[in-house]
Amino acid sequence: MRVGIGYDSHRFADGRPLVLGGVQIPGERGLSGHSDADAVAHALTDAILGAAAAGNIGQLFPDSDPQWKDADSMELLRTAHELVRGRGHALVQADLTVITETPRLGPHLTAMAASIAGRLGVPAGAIGVKAKTNEGMGFIGRGEGLAVIAVALLEAR
Ligand code: MG
Repeated sequence: MRVGIGYDSHRFADGRPLVLGGVQIPGERGLSGHSDADAVAHALTDAILGAAAAGNIGQLFPDSDPQWKDADSMELLRTAHELVRGRGHALVQADLTVITETPRLGPHLTAMAASIAGRLGVPAGAIGVKAKTNEGMGFIGRGEGLAVIAVALLEAR
């Protein structure tokens, strides 16, 4: 068994869709970024790569590379999982926390977990997604952006 942690944060931006875990969340603002800025997918990608000591998302998919502009980050996540599977590790379980003041993500958490599980080919119960606010503190509290923390457990296959 191997465990990995991932963290990601993105700044909110007008005129972009908000996509988290491959689910489009209704609202006025999305996240800025080179890819589709899906911070949930990015944090989980780093957790999976970290558990396998296989580097990080920036090494695999550099944001200096035009081929990843507006990339589907769920596909980057799937590719990272395939990479670690190729090294003999498979995802057993992941737990994620999204930290943001707005929008309220409660109604979307089940869809996000199902979306991730579906893309990675793991049982729905293997993925947990939670959300909380930052109690008004710091950049998250001011509504400048959001952050995601992910933990992934891999086992040898
Ligand atoms: Mg990111």
